[in-house]
Amino acid sequence: MRNLLLKGEAKVNDTDSNGMTTLHHAAYKGNTDMCKMLLAHGADVSSDSHDHRYSALHFAALSGSTETVQLLLTSGAKTYHTNTLGRTAAQMAAFVGNHAVVALINNYLPLSDVLKYTEPTGLEKEAKLPSSVAKPLYDLIMQVNLHPVKIAFSVENSEELQKNITSAWKVLEIMCEKESKQSENVNEVICLKFHYLAFVFKTLEKELKKLEPMMEEEGFVKDNSIFESIIRKWLRGRHSDGFEEHLEYYIRDAIKSFPYVEMPLFMQLARNITGGEIGDTSALCILSGCINGQRAFQDDKACSTCGQEQKALKRCSKCKMVQYCDRCCQKLHWPIHKKFCDMLQIEYKKQMKKLEEEKEREAEENEEKGKREKETEKKNLKDEELASQEVRKREENVKKNEDTKCKDEEMASGMKKVEIK
Ligand SMILES: [Zn+2]
Ligand SMILES: [Zn+2]
Repeated sequence: MRNLLLKGEAKVNDTDSNGMTTLHHAAYKGNTDMCKMLLAHGADVSSDSHDHRYSALHFAALSGSTETVQLLLTSGAKTYHTNTLGRTAAQMAAFVGNHAVVALINNYLPLSDVLKYTEPTGLEKEAKLPSSVAKPLYDLIMQVNLHPVKIAFSVENSEELQKNITSAWKVLEIMCEKESKQSENVNEVICLKFHYLAFVFKTLEKELKKLEPMMEEEGFVKDNSIFESIIRKWLRGRHSDGFEEHLEYYIRDAIKSFPYVEMPLFMQLARNITGGEIGDTSALCILSGCINGQRAFQDDKACSTCGQEQKALKRCSKCKMVQYCDRCCQKLHWPIHKKFCDMLQIEYKKQMKKLEEEKEREAEENEEKGKREKETEKKNLKDEELASQEVRKREENVKKNEDTKCKDEEMASGMKKVEIK
């Protein structure tokens, strides 16, 4: 392809009989390298020459390749472009179950959208955001995990964010307002996310202020998270079943304080949250589903402290019902978890017993099935034998008949001979 392009024998934006460009084809195959090469040769990332107006991003979303999707996004693909069915790329990805792609597109923001606040505008003497905070803030906006504990960890890991948390949430609020006032193609998802992050940042700002006097003391060492007290508060469980009530109310407050109440996404979110009882589906689950795509996160694969989903989570050795990213997450959760660990251990044993019983039942059923199958096999064999006996008999009879026929004929001809004589 590259050679054809170089020789000028093919034009990069030429289309086939379905109106598809080479970039459309490469995106559909999830071939990131090919896409990169084509884009470098001037392929139009926004082309929707396809018969049904699919863009390269639609095709990449269908392919399920997050790498290709990411490349197209950073190359300027429009997330709001719709095909002739009125569907965006994220909606197509959701339709075929490519949830990682949905989350990626819904959370995407060009870095330049944050960078522009690092330049003073108009009469400003100072920019709204120190340039050293732009990247950590941008990374946090792109973060898919919305658990406030995870957000607290991210802030904790960035000295710049801690130092400038006030300007960070102020910029987030400006971005939220700006997005809501777009004349068209308002990205409601990112608008809601800006608001939510600003809300959590404000909580963390309060915590940092409380810590200030302590941090100034000489020899101040914090062996756990600096946000330990608020994290503990978020994670505190309800007496009856350990349900994280505080977190639930916190997230609900965050959503309730969203200022653009007429936004369809917000109305849907509010309906979903007020529809159920406290403790049915957590507000965090619903919010994550709303922002990242329809799939709310699966609790059995996420860290019990920070909600991070990863493959190698470590289970509590006693109850085996909760799991953590690492020792830090486990330590933070222990004062809360220890009240429920015994209860969960009993629950775990119950579940295991049930599972074992099910397995036994299944094994028995399989044995029974095996027996039955053998019997039918035997019967079939017998039937076959009988059938072949029958065939043999019939053949014998035919032979006999033929023999008698022959004999009869012989006799007849003998008689004829006799007659001739
Ligand atoms: Zn964790
Ligand atoms: Zn436990």
